Amino acid sequence: MKSEGPGAGGQGPGTGEARVAGDELRRYLEFYQDLGIKEIYRRDSKKRNDANVQAVPDASPAPGPRPPAPAVPPPDSRSLLPILEDIGDCRRCRLHEARTNIVFGVGNEQSPLVFVGEGPGADEDAQGIPFVGRAGQLLTQMIEGTAKREGIALLRQDVYICNVVKCRPPNNRTPEPDEMEICGQFLFRQLVTIQPKAICALGGTAARALTGHKEGVTKMRGKWFQWRDIPVMVTYHPSFLLRAYNQDAKREAWEDLKKVLHFVFDAA
Ligand code: URA
Repeated sequence: MKSEGPGAGGQGPGTGEARVAGDELRRYLEFYQDLGIKEIYRRDSKKRNDANVQAVPDASPAPGPRPPAPAVPPPDSRSLLPILEDIGDCRRCRLHEARTNIVFGVGNEQSPLVFVGEGPGADEDAQGIPFVGRAGQLLTQMIEGTAKREGIALLRQDVYICNVVKCRPPNNRTPEPDEMEICGQFLFRQLVTIQPKAICALGGTAARALTGHKEGVTKMRGKWFQWRDIPVMVTYHPSFLLRAYNQDAKREAWEDLKKVLHFVFDAA
């Protein structure tokens, strides 16, 4: 992503107003560049509902008295709404073809704890809400049950829950690397906006996407990793735990959850 271009640094002709706006735009772009985002996507402001969104490799302000609105929200915004608006009726990858609903995320946007799963299943696709099927019910029980037993007042609605990809992969297959890369920019922005104290990665796909490690979940679970400077606890995906023979895994998952809940909610 380039952050400088004709007009952006005030070197070319232009009004003072355009130069100030150009500087502001450049600061936004530099901020996202620092975060590792190399490409941004811009919707044509004349067609806000047009889903054919283009990659904008060179995001220099267009000539004219006013630069285009930045494609990303200001760094200090704590609302997820602009991200949802940017997703729009997303068709950036092939996962849009079979989806019913985009499953953005649910819960407390100011939560110090975010759970990240892999991608929506059939129930989530139908309702547009993450973790509402059988795996979701187990996740709710795990969060609320563990918290209660540990003396922590916490309900599912107090945490934030989302996925690496926002559209259901056909037949619940694992998302492809390019799908995770394209959709990952939205997870990235959700996490930057929420700034949780910790993230809990549910299953291997979320764990690998967040940490960059390549091991299986059995090796990673119960350990702390990092997403940027935020601690990430890896645990099993609730779908895996639903399989009857996974009693040991269930016990391990309770242990993992205890660790993350105490880390986040115990007084400093
Ligand atoms: N599995 C996931 O990874 N996410 C959901 O939202 C539901 C099931």
